[in-house]
This record gives sequence, structure tokens and C-alpha cells, in this order.
Amino acid sequence: MPEPVEPSPEGELEPVRVLDPDSEGVEATVRRLMDRQAQHEQQLDRLASAPDPGSPSPFAAFGMPGFGGPPSAAPPEPRPIMELDGEEREDELDALSDWVDDFLLPVYGAEVTTAAPWCLQWQEHDDVVAWLHALWLAYQQHKDPEAGLSGLFVWHRDFLTHAVAAIRSPGGPLSACMTSPDRAAHRLLPGPPPSARTEKATADASAPAEPAEPDEPTS
Ligand SMILES: [Zn+2]
Repeated sequence: MPEPVEPSPEGELEPVRVLDPDSEGVEATVRRLMDRQAQHEQQLDRLASAPDPGSPSPFAAFGMPGFGGPPSAAPPEPRPIMELDGEEREDELDALSDWVDDFLLPVYGAEVTTAAPWCLQWQEHDDVVAWLHALWLAYQQHKDPEAGLSGLFVWHRDFLTHAVAAIRSPGGPLSACMTSPDRAAHRLLPGPPPSARTEKATADASAPAEPAEPDEPTS
């Protein structure tokens, strides 16, 4: 607060004229700030409660969805390869094959034996494709510096070991394919027939739904 200044030459105190205008100014400033705050809150409420899918998120530039809004229409990448089809699937399979041929097999591809079969056409075995694709995605995640220094150990322990054991098991999906380095073979093993539950459900549906209550009065 400004102090009353020196007495005027007439010996009277200067009127404290700055006080009232100043305090009015403070009130006005507080009011303005409160108004602005309320506006911000309303904006946030609007963003949170009524996301408009047609308009781009104000945070899109930061790679973030809007507050409370659903993620944009594009599904997160990458997607499981078994959910892809057409050219998308072919492209993903090409990239996966490169990784398998250039990295996985040269490093971890043990000799082909009856105890560790392999298939030169593994791309035609859906279950093998699904395993290898998942293994590849996990590799990309765990080799990232953000996975920490133990990331690749975790990948070996939790992913590679299990995937190879499943894919190259003597009774696994490739057991009718290549079991000797000199004999390239390929045969898709037939799976079990479809579940019998559908037939049973149909039979149940044709039966009367509820027996009549014996003690229900009839009119
Ligand atoms: Zn095969």
C-alpha cells in the first residue's frame, strides 16, 4: 500500500486518492482471473464430456488423444498378424520372414532333426506364423532401450525359449515337415473337427423352453 506522501505546502495531508482506485483495480483483477478460470474449467468440461470425433484433437500434435475421448479410429499398431489379411498380411509376413531368415535362424536355428523339426514353408502353418510374429513383436519391445538393460535377457527367458520349444517340438506343428536337413518336407497337420456344441445348442433350442408349473391355476 502506498503511504500517504509528505504534507502539502498547505500543511494538509495529501488525500489518499490512490487507495480506492487501487483496491478497485485489485478487485477487478481478481474478478477477471476468476472469470478466466471459470472459462478454462468450462473448456475442459466440454473437452471431457463431449468429444467431437469429427474435429481433430487439440492435442493431436503431441500424439495424444483429447481428454476423455476415445482413441482415434485407427487401431493401435502393430496388430496381431492373424487379424490382417490381403496385402497387409503379405507385407507383414514379408517383414517377419526377413527377421526369421536374417536374424532368428542364423543365431538360434539349431540343426533340423526329428527332435527339432523345421519347415521351409513355415509361412503356411498359421500357428507357427502366429508364434513367430508374437516373438518378433516381443523382440522389438525388449530390445528397445526403454526396456532396460535386462530387456533382452527377459526376451530370451520369457519369449524365445517358449516359442522355440513350441514351434520345434518333436510333436509340434512342424513334426510332419522337415525332420532331416536332407529331406525338405511339408505337410499341414489336420486339426480337430469343429466343436460339437453348436449341434447340442440347436437340439436344446427345439425342446420346450419351460415345463408348465403343476400348481399354476388354469383358467
Ligand atoms: Zn510345413
